[in-house]
Amino acid sequence: MTETFDTAHVVTWVRTLRDAVETKEQWLTELDAAIGDADHGGNMVRGLRAAAAALDNTPPTSPSAALKSVAMALISHVGGASGPLYGTFFLRAATAVGSAPELDAAAVGRGLRAGLDGVIARGKARPGDKTMVDALTPAVDAFDAAAGEGLAAAATAAREAAEQGRDATEPLVARKGRASYLGERSAGHLDPGAASTALLFAALEGAVTSGTTAA
Ligand code: ADP
Ligand code: MG
Repeated sequence: MTETFDTAHVVTWVRTLRDAVETKEQWLTELDAAIGDADHGGNMVRGLRAAAAALDNTPPTSPSAALKSVAMALISHVGGASGPLYGTFFLRAATAVGSAPELDAAAVGRGLRAGLDGVIARGKARPGDKTMVDALTPAVDAFDAAAGEGLAAAATAAREAAEQGRDATEPLVARKGRASYLGERSAGHLDPGAASTALLFAALEGAVTSGTTAA
C-alpha cells in the first residue's frame, strides 16, 4: 500500500500491463478479429514490451520521464491506431505531472485527465463511439471522484469504472476507427481498445496497491 506514486510505481505499472497484455493477447486479438483487423493483441504486446525494455535500458529519474519514455516506445513501435493514441495518453500525462519525484492522488488524477484529453484531441472520439474513450472517460472520472480517499481507493474505483465502460461498449455501433467501417454489424462485440484500457487500469491498481518498488 502506498500513498504516493513515484518512478518505481510507473515502472511497475508498465511491467504489470506488459504481463497482462501478454496473458490476454489472444483475447484482445479475437475481439479485434470480430470488428477490426485482428492485430490489437499483437500491437499491445509489441508496444508494452518495447516500453518496458526502454525503462530497463534507460532507468528514468522521475515519474514524468518514465511516462514520456513509455509514450515514445508506444508511438514508435505500434503501427495501429492504438499506438499513437496510447502514446498520446502517456505523453500528455508526462507533461501534466511535471517534474515532481512523487505524485499524490490528485497529481496522478491530473495526469490521467490530461491523457484522456489528449486521446480525445487526437482521435476525435466521444463517449459512445465504441472506442477506448468509453473505458477511459469513466475511469478518469471515477479516479478523480475517489482521489480524496487516497491513491489505492482511486485506482480501484478507476479500474471498476473502466471494466464497466468496457462492458458497455458491447451493444454500441462503432463511429470511430476501423470498426466503424462495419456500421451496424459492429454491435454485439466488445471494443478491443476499451478492453485493453481496462487492463491499463487494472495494472495501475496493481502497481498502487502492491506498493512494491520495481528497482
Ligand atoms: P487498428 O485499428 O489500427 O488496427 P488497434 O487494433 O491496435 O489498431 O486498435 C484498435 C482500437 O483503437 C479500437 O478498438 C479503439 O478502441 C481504438 N481506436 C481506434 N480509433 C480510435 C479513435 N479515433 N479514438 C479513440 N480510440 C480509437
Ligand atoms: Mg486492429
